[in-house]
Amino acid sequence: MSLNGKVAVITGSNSGIGLGVAEELAKAGATVVLNSFTDRDEDHALAAELAERTEGRAIYIKADMSKADECRALIDQTVERFGSVDIIVNNAGIQHVEGIDTFPTEKWDAIIAINMSSAFHTTAAALPHMRKAGWGRVVNIASAHGLTASPYKSAYVAAKHGVVGMTKVVALETAQEPITANAICPGYVLTPLVESQIPDTMKKYDMDRETVIKQVMLERQPSKEFATTEQIGGTVVFLCSDAATQITGTTISVDGGWTAL
Ligand code: NAD
Repeated sequence: MSLNGKVAVITGSNSGIGLGVAEELAKAGATVVLNSFTDRDEDHALAAELAERTEGRAIYIKADMSKADECRALIDQTVERFGSVDIIVNNAGIQHVEGIDTFPTEKWDAIIAINMSSAFHTTAAALPHMRKAGWGRVVNIASAHGLTASPYKSAYVAAKHGVVGMTKVVALETAQEPITANAICPGYVLTPLVESQIPDTMKKYDMDRETVIKQVMLERQPSKEFATTEQIGGTVVFLCSDAATQITGTTISVDGGWTAL
């Protein structure tokens, strides 16, 4: 599955799934653009370290995915630097867990902007370049929560369902072109995002860490195992490969059977 010569932007890729996806795409031969809003030395160091292992095929570009102009600037800067953008992986995401009656409006707005609207802006900016190049792949990292729901995750569930819906529209608008658009719906992957939910859940249910993982998180996942960032990255590589040319407008669940229940 060679992606030699392809340029991939992965939004929100200084940790967790995004970083895993960048690794797998780079291993497959793509040049990767790592992104986050933070612009710290560590972020540049992550890209430099990946570049060292991949003949210089990784850079870091700062852009805040909560802002439409920065989403579009991320694509513009990638094209300025490399001449094209062939693969866009919309991965940036945040979470807030609270009942809908007290759910803060600013958290709702931020989750919708970062988890959903950013994918609209980057895709809109990238499509003309993909059309010009005659090849393109849009891969949206949705969630099992894009197909099912959980209490206390209203904004996240709404955003992820929105991403799944928008993916289908992009697929239909590009169906007769050499461009595909698909969504991946992971179940639980033990990333900083999931780690950050554990202490509150421990307090809420008066459980230790291991019990939270077993009885709250993996309870919904029939495999009883976390998926790994490598497995999500591998699924992205597959969707970008020639084997997946006719796969468009669909969702691939990487959830240990969660959505089969
Ligand atoms: P993570 O916290 O490790 O990564 C989130 C990434 O988004 C980070 O790189 C962060 O810098 C970036 N980000 C946050 N706000 C941003 C902003 N304003 N601009 C640019 N980047 C921003 O979490 P993760 O679990 O790796 O999550 C990645 C994606 O996978 C998210 O969309 C998440 O919803 C989705 N997902 C995760 C799981 C899971 O169990 N971990 C399950 C299903 C879906």
